[in-house]
Order: sequence, then structure tokens, then C-alpha cells
Amino acid sequence: MDYACMAFNQINQPGSYTWNTMIRGFSCSLNPLESLKFYSAMRAHGLIANSYTFSFTLKACARVSAISEAQELHTEITKVGLCWDVNVINTLIHVYANYGELENAGKLFDEMPYRTVVSWNAMVGGFNHRGCFGDALDLFNLMRGGLQKPDGVTVAMVLSSCANLGALGKGQLVHSYLETSDINMDLVIGNALMDMYAKCGSLEDCQKVFERMTKRDLVSWNSMINAFAVNGNASDALDIFRSMRSDSIRPDAITFVSVLRACSHAGLVHEGKEIFSRMKVEYGVEPEIEHYGCMVDLLGRAGFLEEALNLIETMPLERNAIILRALLGACKVHGNVELGRSLVRDILELEGSHSGDYVSLSNIYASRGKWEGAARVRRMMRESGVAKVVGYSLIEVKDTIHKFLVGDKSHPQGNSVYEMLDEIGKKLKLEGHLPNTSFVLYDIGEEEKEENLSVHSERLAIAFGLIRTRAGETIRIVKNLRVCTDCHSVTKLISKIYDRRIIVRDRSRFHHFNRGTCSCMDYW
Ligand code: ZN
Ligand code: ZN
Repeated sequence: MDYACMAFNQINQPGSYTWNTMIRGFSCSLNPLESLKFYSAMRAHGLIANSYTFSFTLKACARVSAISEAQELHTEITKVGLCWDVNVINTLIHVYANYGELENAGKLFDEMPYRTVVSWNAMVGGFNHRGCFGDALDLFNLMRGGLQKPDGVTVAMVLSSCANLGALGKGQLVHSYLETSDINMDLVIGNALMDMYAKCGSLEDCQKVFERMTKRDLVSWNSMINAFAVNGNASDALDIFRSMRSDSIRPDAITFVSVLRACSHAGLVHEGKEIFSRMKVEYGVEPEIEHYGCMVDLLGRAGFLEEALNLIETMPLERNAIILRALLGACKVHGNVELGRSLVRDILELEGSHSGDYVSLSNIYASRGKWEGAARVRRMMRESGVAKVVGYSLIEVKDTIHKFLVGDKSHPQGNSVYEMLDEIGKKLKLEGHLPNTSFVLYDIGEEEKEENLSVHSERLAIAFGLIRTRAGETIRIVKNLRVCTDCHSVTKLISKIYDRRIIVRDRSRFHHFNRGTCSCMDYW
């Protein structure tokens, strides 16, 4: 662009085409803001912006999320009567949709006299980007029945929506659409499919896609390793890691995070240590804070608290709250009050208040039976006004995603859900499950109203799943927070009593409950 500028400055009275060339150049450069400057300069020179000018300038706005500038351009576009220009409007929709102005984007989209695939994709992409995954899927369905059929870009985006929702059924529908369409099954789509199956907890399908891919890149390998890791299948994760070599793909930093996480989830201390030590020497990957975090987690969970602390103190990187929190989690498991307290102090110093830290500290006290300490922390938490994240769980039944909040009574079938919960409660009692009331009171998870464990969101979703799915069908739940101890043991029992496989994706991993046990081996 430097040379372009020099040449541009030599031109006596450049015309619109030349200005547009500069605006376009900058819109894809490292410095998209320059496009906006050139646009203003062009106007100041008395030239009239045309549809190209607007498309390129809007593209620059999209890259730097300059939403107010985009709005000004929108006014200008209306003024000069370019609202019929499909390229200009597509770009405008893209800018609005991606930066939270979904209503404006939707209005433009609805008012378009005709739409191209790009218009649909701009809208689907916006929904996806803003976390409105259900809307993205609805639009995809409309598109399937319309004139402009979804293309590879659409499919990759809706697969990501399905992945975020953990909606396996919908993901499978997209997959079968893909197989009947003439969309090329390229690397991007293959990776998106793998990601969808992995995040929906269907490891077998994820692996099938991986094996069928004719070409794989680092992303494909990393997704496969990570899928095994978060589903608690450490030995397969390590096998895939080893076979990466045969495909002459070099592992990167992300690969090692997944591999170490696999070791951590499975308690493979020896393997984890060995891989960590070989990372730099053998593969030339410098350990980053995430890798140290995995190691601290691995050592801490296995009870090597001293060694974990030592690693934090000797690492060549600045410690952060996340790594301290990993050790704090281990203190909770192993009931180390002393270390836990000093860690919370350090974390608060580094980062200010965070509800999870209070929760962990309270849990450490609780695990040692120090109820007073736990109660004090809870008081501190209330008084400092630390807000907790509201827990929710999603379940997909017959093509619809149902969302349950903790203690939710708003679901149309709420009554039968609560009846089912009662029935479950009775059966649990017969199985000898006794929620330890004193412990329950203080083992506060991350959810609100933790005293009332039986209405934690995943329990509502599981009860709903038991009512609404066929006997023997796997129940899949996505939860936004970590599963609490009591819900974990209850879900194990439910899987046995009702003879169901229940797969729960929580904030950090998958739990596959089957015949009274969980794939995480109670180690999460
Ligand atoms: Zn719970
Ligand atoms: Zn588990």
C-alpha cells in the first residue's frame, strides 16, 4: 500500500475508479481505517461515491467494527439511492449483523427486493456470531426451501451453531443435507463436521468424518485429539497424537494443550510429564501459560500439590489467575485449606473478585468439614455483591432445543418434569442415595440456589429427556457451568436405574454416564 500511495499522489485529479482502488486496497490491508480516510478525502474532493466505494468502505468498517461510521455510510447510501444495490446492502447487513445490530440487519434483509446467497450468509453469519444459534438454524431451514440454496459457507456456519447448541439431531440433518447437495466436502466443511460431532458428544461420528477425510490439516488433527481428550478417552488421544507424525503434520501449541488435557483428565501423570518435557526439545514448541496450566492441573489433581506449586514458582512466565485457579481446584479436591487460602488471596490481588474463587474457597473449607469457614466465605461473597452466573442446561428433543434454568418453572411441560423429578427422587432413595445435607449445604457449586440441588438445571433437563425420549435412547445435555458433585452422583444412578446413556457436556468436558459410572472416573 505504501507504493500504491506514492503512485496515487503522483496522479493529477484522480477519478472515482482510482479512489475506489485505494479504498479497496486499504480495506484488505493491515490498516483498514485508512479506507475511511480515503473515503472522506474523496468526498471532500467533490467526487460522488458509487456502489463500489460503499462496498469497500463498509468492508473496512466491518474489519474494525466501526459501527457508527457504517451507520453514517448507510444514511449516505439511502441519500444517493443505492439501497437497491445488492452488493452494498449485503455488506451493510454483514456489518450490522456482526456488530450486534441484528434488528437493523434483519430489517434490511427483509426489505431486499431479491437476495443472493451472500445476503443469506450475511444474516446466518450474524446470528451465529452473536450467539443466536437457533435463529441461524431457522434461517438455514428457510433457505433450504427457497430459491437460493445454502452453500459451503452457510453449511459451515450452521454446523458451528449446532455445535454450540450441542444439537446432535440438527447437526445430523445438516450433514444429510450436505450429502444430498452438490456442495464440495472440502477441508473447511470436514473440520466443521468434526467439530459439530465432537461438541455434540458423538465421538464415533467425529472419528468417522476424520477417517473419511481425504485431506486433513492441523485443525483436523487437533480437533480429533481434543475430542478424545474432553470425552475422557486419553489413550485414543495419545494414539492420534502419535500417528500425526505419519501424516507428516507437525503438532503446534494447541495440539499440546489437548494432549496434556487428555493426560490430566485421565490422571496420566507420567505420560503428561514426559510429553511436557519433550514439547520444546523435540517439537520446537515453546510452552505457554496454557501448557503450564495443564501441568498444574495434572499434578494438582493427582495430589502433587507441592510439585505443582513449585512449577508455578519456577516457570519463566508471569503467573496469572487462571493457573492459580487450577491449583486452587486441586486444593479443593485434596482439602488443603492453607494453600487454598493463600491462593485465593493471590488471585483476588491479580484479578479482583470472581465468584468462582469464593466458591472454591468455600468448598475447600466444606471438604474439611469446616462449616464456619465456608459460611463466612459465603457471607463475604454476598456482601461484596459478587454475582453468580445463572446455570442453564439445553436438551434437544425431536428437533427442538429446550432450555432449563435452575429451578425453572416456565417450561410448558413443567408439571410433568417436576412429577418425574419426584419419581426420580423416590427411586434414588431406594438405591440408597442420601444427599449429605451438611455437605450439600456448603458444597456450593457454581449455581444459584444451591441448597435446592434437585432443581439444578441439568436435573430438569434429564427428567424432561426421560419423559420425552424413547426407552434406551441416549440423553444429551449441554450445561453452561461445571456439574456439581451431587448432580454427578445422581446422574450416575439415573443412568443405572433407567438404563440410559446420558452424555453431559459441561463447561470444560464431557461426562458419559452409563450403567452407574461416568467416563470421567469422578475426576473432573
Ligand atoms: Zn448440581
Ligand atoms: Zn463425570
